[in-house]
Amino acid sequence: MQTADTLIHARWIIPVEPRGQVLEHHALAVRNGRVVAIISSETADSVWQAEDIVRLPNHALLPGLVDAHTHAAMTLLRGLADDLPLKAWLEDHIWPAEARWVSPEFVRDGTDLALVELVRGGVTTFQDMYFFPDVVARVASAAGLRASLGLVVMGFPTAWAGSPAEYLQKGLDVRDAHRHDPLLSFALAPHAPYSVDDATLREVRKLADEVQVPIHMHVHETAQELADSVAQYGVRPLARLDALGLLDHDFTAVHMTQLDATEIALCAARGVKVVHCPESNLKLASGLCPVAALRAAGVTVAIGTDGAASNNDLDMLGEVRTATLLAKQVAGDPTVLPAAEALEMATLGGARALGLAEHIGSLTPGKWADCIAIDLSRPATQPTYDPLSAIVYAAGRDAVSDVWVAGRRLLAERALLTLDEQAILSRAAAWRARILP
Ligand SMILES: [Zn+2]
Repeated sequence: MQTADTLIHARWIIPVEPRGQVLEHHALAVRNGRVVAIISSETADSVWQAEDIVRLPNHALLPGLVDAHTHAAMTLLRGLADDLPLKAWLEDHIWPAEARWVSPEFVRDGTDLALVELVRGGVTTFQDMYFFPDVVARVASAAGLRASLGLVVMGFPTAWAGSPAEYLQKGLDVRDAHRHDPLLSFALAPHAPYSVDDATLREVRKLADEVQVPIHMHVHETAQELADSVAQYGVRPLARLDALGLLDHDFTAVHMTQLDATEIALCAARGVKVVHCPESNLKLASGLCPVAALRAAGVTVAIGTDGAASNNDLDMLGEVRTATLLAKQVAGDPTVLPAAEALEMATLGGARALGLAEHIGSLTPGKWADCIAIDLSRPATQPTYDPLSAIVYAAGRDAVSDVWVAGRRLLAERALLTLDEQAILSRAAAWRARILP
């Protein structure tokens, strides 16, 4: 007999690698938090032993979704200011609200609320970019989610830091304190080309090389950003970042709604990864990321929700659907980004954008057992001819029934096992009363 800690039997297993594969009546064997085998359920029953055996007769089991860009604690600002362009939304509403309210307690309570939404929606890993990443590290790790913490750097003072040098020092201190936690990884996160100066970006490049972390940054989000850059620096932001040496295979550019053919070729040549946040871009009317053209050029594209103040939810399944529908419209071609590729973007693509593809992103022996189950027996996904199609084009996030990260179960038949949802909702309601009495 072979032994595992957990055997998860499912009607379908979609490992994501190889692309498009759907295994029927198979089981995932997990030992010490990692995938050890995917075998037929029959073989599992006759040859494998495990203390914990889970049977999911109507479900697809797949890698956990990777939300490749969010600002988790901004859940507490959800719906505070809507229907505005990015500049007015940020400068007249979001930044003043953050200046008044952001604190370690705000980040704790907002991140906890985000974690409830993420786990319930099938997200096992998120890339954050926010203040007090030490607090995000603690709450994410306590809840058992995997997180890449963006160590934010901005050109103006906030409650977290007073100068670029202080942002960088405090960020690196957070990394030093948490670097041995297997659930956590880190990225330097200069906010955007318009909010960080050249000297700081040079320092970011130097430090990223020294401590071997990726760089994660909002880039080419709006036409206004490009016009302002040309006026101030004489070049578009990507050209400026390239001249500063930032663009390489460890650089992840978020949004990228304004790209010409030369810039797409530059990203491909440098190995830049792109995070597409379709609903945030649509809501702020920022522009459209040319996903199909980037992928055709060989660029890795991941999917992110962005923060809940500009989306306004952290629904990655919904984001995947929007991404595939929008890619078809932008390319004028319904054959681009079929379901298997859209799901790959939201799992393995996210893992690549976070520098974690060796560890997560597919159900592959040796990788962490980060996986989710989606119940396809509900009316919205019946009859099920093709589970990939059902997940990408029809399933709602309420069909996510179970979630494991590194083999630890965080959601069991829709019940949260590591987060106190009622207490978290009460704290969110208390913030609502303080922020807008
Ligand atoms: Zn963002």
